Amino acid sequence: MSQTHVGKCFCGAVEIKVTGEPAAAGYCHCESCRSWSAAPVNAFSLWKPEVVTFTRGADNVGTYHKTERSYRKFCKTCGGHLMTDHPHWGLIDVYAATIPTYRHVPQLHVNYSESVLRMKDGLPKMKDVPKEMGGSGETVPE
Ligand SMILES: [Zn+2]
Ligand SMILES: [Zn+2]
Repeated sequence: MSQTHVGKCFCGAVEIKVTGEPAAAGYCHCESCRSWSAAPVNAFSLWKPEVVTFTRGADNVGTYHKTERSYRKFCKTCGGHLMTDHPHWGLIDVYAATIPTYRHVPQLHVNYSESVLRMKDGLPKMKDVPKEMGGSGETVPE
């Protein structure tokens, strides 16, 4: 019953596939996500690397990393963003918007202290990230 979701970059040269359920999902408000995505918030879904595959155009994928924590992958043709590999967590953030059939069920907001777009949805608002992800585990007001 494991579901497969197929996604592609903006131009379609790169196609990806994820299978099953994400380990976690939510919204990240950090400055890096906002800058990279050119959006006020990033809808993230975190998957184990073994369930994320490139099904087309793998040689057309560029990677940029400003820090060792985030390897950002994009299509070399259109510049469309695909995912961010977080090796220290052993998880890949496949942007929810990149896999349209995946139903984004957010569990929390992270890095809410950096938010420029308040989202009053009643979900936990982490100051940075949960303790088990290496953060303070503190929450902040909506
Ligand atoms: Zn593309
Ligand atoms: Zn972020």
